[in-house]
Amino acid sequence: MLDVLKKLEEEGYEATIGLEVHVQLNTVSKIFSADANHETEEANTHVSVISLGHPGTLPVLNAQAVEKAVLMGLACGSQISRYNTFDRKSYFYPDLPKGYQTTQDKTPICIGGKIPLFGTNLLQEQVELHHIHLEEDAGKSIHDEEAGTLIDLNRAGTPLIEIVTNPSVAGPDEAAACLQEIRRMVRYLGIGNANMEKGELRCDANISIKKKGDSLLGEKVEIKNMNSFSHVRKAAIFELERQLALKLAGEPVVVETRTFDPATGQTYGMRFKETMNDYRYFPCPDLPPVILDDQYLAGLQPRANENPRVYRQRLTQKYQLSDYDLGILTEEKETAQYFEALCQQGVEPKSAANWMNGPLRSLLNEEGKNLSEIAIGTQQLAELIKLVEEDKLVYQTAVQQLLPKLPKATKSPLKLAEELNLLVSEDKAELEAIVREVLISLPKETEAFRKGKKKLLGLFIGEVMKKSRGKANPKVVQQELLKALN
Ligand code: MN
Repeated sequence: MLDVLKKLEEEGYEATIGLEVHVQLNTVSKIFSADANHETEEANTHVSVISLGHPGTLPVLNAQAVEKAVLMGLACGSQISRYNTFDRKSYFYPDLPKGYQTTQDKTPICIGGKIPLFGTNLLQEQVELHHIHLEEDAGKSIHDEEAGTLIDLNRAGTPLIEIVTNPSVAGPDEAAACLQEIRRMVRYLGIGNANMEKGELRCDANISIKKKGDSLLGEKVEIKNMNSFSHVRKAAIFELERQLALKLAGEPVVVETRTFDPATGQTYGMRFKETMNDYRYFPCPDLPPVILDDQYLAGLQPRANENPRVYRQRLTQKYQLSDYDLGILTEEKETAQYFEALCQQGVEPKSAANWMNGPLRSLLNEEGKNLSEIAIGTQQLAELIKLVEEDKLVYQTAVQQLLPKLPKATKSPLKLAEELNLLVSEDKAELEAIVREVLISLPKETEAFRKGKKKLLGLFIGEVMKKSRGKANPKVVQQELLKALN
């Protein structure tokens, strides 16, 4: 358990953490207009009169945004609202010139549900959700030293889902794990890119502490707009420690919004939270209600099942992987699918996991590519693994010389190995000659081995392998060496 949680417990306190996670959806166009919804270099180029909320313009709800929100809800096991409306939440900010945000936060499309957590030593298996709602993003203020503050409204009207957890996240590690799983889910479902450094996934955390057993929650501090897992974790640790210190000193915890500075690892007060926000919510008169029926939801269920929890369950049951292998192989859907395809080609699960997490991963890192870009088919890799397992190809030779050639290969690994003269040599006489040669060239070591320094066997094997240019079968080499030495 984290030190800060132990300290809280010792003093008779407990932590209350809730998360509000905004995720940008990767729809083709914005949530209420035909403006393109993708990154662009030039500011204010994807901004129509609808995104600006000009009088007389009519927003139209993007069906893709609804579909993606429902996919996330189904994957979380939420209850999906059949009757959906939007409100106008009125406030002014330079990046929201129309004066209101169109949001669903009072009538969310998904109610309840849970985010499963995956990791070691976590205090809970899942985090319960309060709801998931749809809304639009605002524009961006860019603070430029020379030009002052500039406004880019390209982001205004980008569809968002806001995932709101119950205040039941057990601690800083669990908050980070929850966020990680949300990112995995968004990517598995294909509803967003969820790059935190680009602001496509942003997290606010509500943190308070209270005396154990108190029914009322403590004074809540909201930490805004964190864009990395580790920031969320560090901010929560810092904030819990800060609040406990205040309580122990008999000082009040001020209800406020704070910001986390990664450079110092501390949170700082931004502004006092108004006790009563007056957003003057009222139903958006321009958007008719959207009604979702059973058939619509049933149609989306198969796609919602393409989520990390389902993959983890299946891979665990079918292939008995270690938690370590499971974690790496299910981090991305492409990796999990590639692994399953390798196993279907007849490769043993443990062997498939080792090849994927070892040599294949190294090759991907070297080339700076991901699995879908590298163009090594599972059939190709399965054949390569089979050649090694049948002792037709030496492992090192396969990894160092053949594997890197597979992406551009037009021939099968066997044909390629034949052509490059890499297959294990069956020529016994040739091998015996090499063994003799090696032992003659190392008279002192040979003598020492015969006197009992058995560790030298490795050296002899290495020399023979070198001389045979990686074509000798290591097992046969060992046999031949022992025969010659004894
Ligand atoms: Mn929001």
